[in-house]
Amino acid sequence: KEAAIETDVVIVGAGPAGLFSVFELGLLDIKAHVIDILPRAGGQCSELYPEKPIYDIPGLPVCTGQELTDNLLKQIEPFHPTFHFNEMVETLMSLGTAEKPEFRLSTDAGKIFHAKVVFIAAGGGSFQPKKPPIPKIESYEGKSVFYAVRRMEDFRDKNVVIVGGGDSALDWTLNLQPVAKSVTLVHRRDQFRAAPHSVSAMQELVAAGKIDFRLGQITSVEGEDGELASAVLKGNDGVEEKLACERLMPFFGLTMKLGPVADWGLQLNENLIPVDTEKFETSHPGIFAVGDINSYPGKLKLILSGFHEVALAAQKAHRYVYPDKKLLFQYTTSSTNLQKKLGVS
Ligand code: FAD
Repeated sequence: KEAAIETDVVIVGAGPAGLFSVFELGLLDIKAHVIDILPRAGGQCSELYPEKPIYDIPGLPVCTGQELTDNLLKQIEPFHPTFHFNEMVETLMSLGTAEKPEFRLSTDAGKIFHAKVVFIAAGGGSFQPKKPPIPKIESYEGKSVFYAVRRMEDFRDKNVVIVGGGDSALDWTLNLQPVAKSVTLVHRRDQFRAAPHSVSAMQELVAAGKIDFRLGQITSVEGEDGELASAVLKGNDGVEEKLACERLMPFFGLTMKLGPVADWGLQLNENLIPVDTEKFETSHPGIFAVGDINSYPGKLKLILSGFHEVALAAQKAHRYVYPDKKLLFQYTTSSTNLQKKLGVS
């Protein structure tokens, strides 16, 4: 049998709906693995508006996107979810029956999961890197062109070229400098959208001759069998120059695309997954869709809707995971059983 991670539930997406799913499922003793293509939890809240205030979370008059994420992470701590960041769920296959569902999921990092139920909390879809307009760049992706760092070792003793002027570009310039043979940062302008302390740290490394900073853009690359050898830099003065380049990291921001969810054989309606409003289950028994990704009459794409949906979906998930156990309705305020699970009594 293939080496798979066995779990009760796989949650696709670590946005607010995915995170609160861990809580509601955890109260019902359902253990979760959570997978997100981003390097951190929080979905849109952390990626698109970490510092903006949200005013319509019940009981929290105001909190920022990042504060909400941090609070959700704290709230689910007692359930010890396992996170798999920087990984996209690519395939979802059904192995079981309608009464006893079982699923096999695989990620683009090669991990396999076996789960009894699946919660799709994929929001507006997976955040995916915007690609630079460099001919044939696809043939190098995953081998020598990367949009995220999975293993620092892939960059050891390599000539690394990083393109961009935001936080990711600057963070990886700083982090890879001690590991790589050389680091060249390429940006169109001499201004950066990154945290000021990262920008000054980068400028100090340039002044000390430890990294190179070049104004311009990469217009083409050369190499063989997916392994890069060089990249052509077109300077802002129009002059072209060949740079030694074995690893290229373009950081041009992210877009949201539905992504692989579209290929999982689920009924879709305008890129959303129709569900019922009793259990938020999809057209396939055992697969639930919660948060922004689902659709039903009257749906509002609000965080509070996702919270409600996951509480109800968890009730039905319990029937699949523990078919012989009866589910008792309990309050966290008064149930010592729930309080034990939360580690508060
Ligand atoms: P998301 O937050 O979109 O998270 C989904 C996650 O799933 C993403 O991290 C994505 O990378 C991941 N994912 C998708 N597919 C895959 C895959 N195949 N493999 C791995 N990972 C995958 N709502 C409010 O209630 N109040 C507000 O004030 C408010 N303000 C907003 C302001 C802005 C600027 C924006 C953009 C949105 C705002 N919203 C607000 C909406 C709110 O952010 C969304 O309703 C909420 O984030 C939806 O949560 P979610 O968990 O369903 O999805």
